[in-house]
Amino acid sequence: AGVLAATLLLSVAACGSSEKTVDQNQPDGGNLIGVTMPTRSSQRWIGDGDNVKKALEALGYQVDLQYAEDDIPTQVNQVESQITKGAKLLIIAPVDGTSMTTQLQAAADKKIPVIAYDRLLRNSPNVGWYATFDNYKVGVQQATSLLIGLELLKEDGSPGTAKGPFNVELFAGSPDDNNATFFYEGAMSVLKPYLDNGTLVVPSKQTDFKTIAILRWQAEVAQKRMENLLTSTYQSGRKVQGVLSPYDGLSIGIVSALRSDGYGLNGQPYPVITGQDAETTSVKSIVLGEQYSTIFKDFRDLAKSSAEMADAILKGKQPPVNNDKDYDNGVKVVPTMMLKTSIVNKANYKEALITSGFYREDQIK
Ligand code: BGC
Repeated sequence: AGVLAATLLLSVAACGSSEKTVDQNQPDGGNLIGVTMPTRSSQRWIGDGDNVKKALEALGYQVDLQYAEDDIPTQVNQVESQITKGAKLLIIAPVDGTSMTTQLQAAADKKIPVIAYDRLLRNSPNVGWYATFDNYKVGVQQATSLLIGLELLKEDGSPGTAKGPFNVELFAGSPDDNNATFFYEGAMSVLKPYLDNGTLVVPSKQTDFKTIAILRWQAEVAQKRMENLLTSTYQSGRKVQGVLSPYDGLSIGIVSALRSDGYGLNGQPYPVITGQDAETTSVKSIVLGEQYSTIFKDFRDLAKSSAEMADAILKGKQPPVNNDKDYDNGVKVVPTMMLKTSIVNKANYKEALITSGFYREDQIK
C-alpha cells in the first residue's frame, strides 16, 4: 500500500492535477472531458463510449466523445483537438498504444490529466491512471475454456475425460495493443504444459506471438489466415479440433473460413473456438454451436470506474485503484483499476448476459 500511495502521489504531481479542481461554473467548457475510443467497427467500443459518456454526464461533465475508426492519425488529431478545446481531462483507449507520446506531452504541459482506458498508453510518463480488466486473466480464461471445450478439463478445473492429442491453431491480437500480449501470455501459461507433453499439437507450428498476431484485430485477416492454414496444413483428412481466438470479431472470421471448408456440415463438428467481448453476433454463434465460448467484460463497470477516477482526479482526490504492479508502460508503472472478467458459453450465457441485464433476450435471438 505504501508503494501504491507513493506512486499515486507521484502521478498526481506529474499530472499537476493535485493543485487543480474544475470550475463547474465556467461557461467555456470548463468541465469538458475528452474521450477517444478506437473504433465503431466493434460493438463493445460503441458500448464503452456510450457508457463512459453517460457516466461522466451524470457527474456533471460535458463530454467530447470521438471514434478513430482504427486510424492512428485520426486519433492523434482528435486528442489534439480536445486539448485545443480546453478539455480538463482526457480518457483515451488508443488504437496504437505507443503513437500518442507527443500529444500526451502536450496534455502534460497544460496540466491535463490522462486516463488510459482498457488499453495501456505506452512509452510515456504522462499517463496518470489506467482503468482496465485483468488482461492476463482473460488469456488464462480463454485457454482454460479451450481445454474445457476439448474435455481435457472439467468446469471445476479437475482433469477431464479426454486424453488427446488434439490439433489446435492459435491466434493473437494486434501487436500495437498492449492487451494482446497479456492475452497471449495468459493463454500460453495454461497451454504450454499441454503443448510440451503433446496433448495439444499445433500442426502449422505457428505459435510465436508475432506470427499469429492479427494487426488491428481485423476479422478478414483472421479469416484469410485460417483459410491459409486449412490449405497448407489440413489436407488429407487432418482436422482442426481447437482454435484459440482472442476476440469475437476474429472468431467470426475463423468460423467463416471453417464453414467454407465443410466444418459444421454433414456431421463434421466445428473445432472448439474461443473469443472475447460477448458481442451479440458471437453469443448467437455460441447458441448455434459454432463458436464455443467468449469472455465477458462488463464494460458498464469499466465506464463507471473510469468516470469515478476522472471525477476524483479533477476534484484533487485520490482516484480509486486496486493494482500498482501489473501495468508498466515502458516508462512507469501506471496505477490501475483492474476489473474481473468471466467465461461465457452456451451453458451459462443466459445467466451471465441476460439475467445480469447486460443484454435483453431479443438481442440474442
Ligand atoms: C480489448 C478487447 C477487444 C480487443 C479488440 C482489446 O484491447 O481489451 O476487449 O476484444 O481490443 O477490440
